[in-house]
Amino acid sequence: MNTNLRTDITVKDICDGFVYNELEGKGLFGLSGKLTIQPEYQRNYFYADGKKDVAVIESLLKGYPLGLIYFNKVSDNTLEVLDGQQRITSFGRFVTNKFAIKDENGMEQYFSGIATDKQAKILETKLLIYECEGTESEIKEWFRTINIAGVPLNDQELLNAVYSGPFVTLGKEEFSNSQNANIQKWSAYIKGVVNRQGYFERALDWVSKGNIGDYMSRHRYDTNITELKIYFNSVIDWVSGVFIDVEKEMCGLEWGRLYEEYHKKPYDPAKVSAEVQKLYGDPYVKNRKGIFEYILGGSVDTKLLNVRVFDDATKKTVYSEQITKAKAKGESNCPLCAIGHDANKNKIWKLKEMDADHVTAWSRGGATNIKNCQMLCKTHNRAKGNR
Ligand SMILES: [Zn+2]
Repeated sequence: MNTNLRTDITVKDICDGFVYNELEGKGLFGLSGKLTIQPEYQRNYFYADGKKDVAVIESLLKGYPLGLIYFNKVSDNTLEVLDGQQRITSFGRFVTNKFAIKDENGMEQYFSGIATDKQAKILETKLLIYECEGTESEIKEWFRTINIAGVPLNDQELLNAVYSGPFVTLGKEEFSNSQNANIQKWSAYIKGVVNRQGYFERALDWVSKGNIGDYMSRHRYDTNITELKIYFNSVIDWVSGVFIDVEKEMCGLEWGRLYEEYHKKPYDPAKVSAEVQKLYGDPYVKNRKGIFEYILGGSVDTKLLNVRVFDDATKKTVYSEQITKAKAKGESNCPLCAIGHDANKNKIWKLKEMDADHVTAWSRGGATNIKNCQMLCKTHNRAKGNR
């Protein structure tokens, strides 16, 4: 049996000539008529439940992998989908406006109604397609081999099967070997199961900047993994050098991306450590996973930390205190409006027209408590936040 991995086919290609038969509930053809999506013997489309079909579209929009798709090459101009008909029918139906997804505002949107950049993102997604050519019994046998005892292979295991050769063998020896003494150290930064290729996958992800299949294809017959090892160790050495404490929230962060972004900047590990400890001890920091990128970026992007906000009781108390004072003085209850010179100088804002603001910014040590809370009109609060 011949097998061939295709990484050049896009959603747009598949959807060229896509036909969906509403009556029979089947996706019929794609790839300009070359592809039969649901051959007669296949089960019908069952993703049309408003969840699975929507999830396929959301995966495309977020750039998540859809997993491998298998075609059976019947002849030079004829392909049949062996596995993947539900996913293909889902995006085919979406692109042909057969169902809608909800946008950020909860509004139902058909394909023709979403922004053109989102349309393009969907259409330009490249799929991972495995073309098999052989007799039916050969193909069935092959499927049995790649599905061990009912546990489907994960993406990396499948890629290892697809690109089997000296490179994969050496890579697994290094990264999928639970006897490797380095695993303990690596496990501080990498989430995943060693023997299910979690570490190998991460190493490949880092060196290839996310294009694992492409990288494995180019290096398939290499008889060394030098580049992979050097890059992986550079990332690990960098993280463990900059952050001398190991915190459990470091595990599974996008260290490859952070390395690319920040490894050329100098850091003082002792200072970094003190800042990590300070932020870990800060009750206002709600997202500890963001601490590391926050520090690497120069401690400015507080969004990464998801700093605690004022609660409603505090806001109401401060609001009523401000309004009493404002009415007594005959000026606006937004202190910044009150010192301005425009028409809002005397305006009394409603509670829902105002937002709570840290008088002393959190990043300068200001607490999220009633003493450090003031209510500002939404315009002034936004202006202050953007400074
Ligand atoms: Zn104001």
